[in-house]
Amino acid sequence: MFLSARPQPPAARPAAATVRPMPILPIYEVPHPILKQKAARVEVVDDEIRKLIADMAETMYAAPGVGLAAPQVGVSKRVLVADVPVGADGVADAGDDSRPESRGADLLALVNPEIVESRGETRYDEGCLSVPDFVEPLKRSAEIVVTGQDREGASVRIVARGFYAVVLQHEIDHLDGVTILDRVSKLKRSLYQSRRARAKARGDSKAAEHRPGAI
Ligand SMILES: [Zn+2]
Repeated sequence: MFLSARPQPPAARPAAATVRPMPILPIYEVPHPILKQKAARVEVVDDEIRKLIADMAETMYAAPGVGLAAPQVGVSKRVLVADVPVGADGVADAGDDSRPESRGADLLALVNPEIVESRGETRYDEGCLSVPDFVEPLKRSAEIVVTGQDREGASVRIVARGFYAVVLQHEIDHLDGVTILDRVSKLKRSLYQSRRARAKARGDSKAAEHRPGAI
């Protein structure tokens, strides 16, 4: 997932076109079938999973995004990473008891995440790295409690609110084979599909992708 109203990069950064880091893993886009699959539970959090987490994090930062689920990089396993700039938009609120892994870094990695409680209702503009050029305000729970494992395999319990809660719901959707396109009306979905088909026919589908703050 990405922020639709992302702040502009600092002026000192070199021109994006020349040195923008490429995601190290390919990001799969709709309608790839892996995005429709329910991802498999991870039985053992081992070095292979930790490598996947590290690669996913690097890919997410390079995209740039604020969340990424393993199916988006072609791995059908229940793993997600997120790095939500809490407070950056003035509304995201992770609370003091959340983000147990955020000491010294804002990266959250969750294995086998499960929403065990949800409360309230909120709506944010959501975009998805797997659904280029599409942003929609979607109804989500305003506060959730998520259980799962961290990158060492230890059990964690996270309370997430606001945009942080939205990002986790979005990524957990991916683990269940659901994208934001499945959460909009049939009309919006088919309009998007024809717009994408036209863009692909023109050969400009890649050029329009992942423009920070463009939509
Ligand atoms: Zn997504």
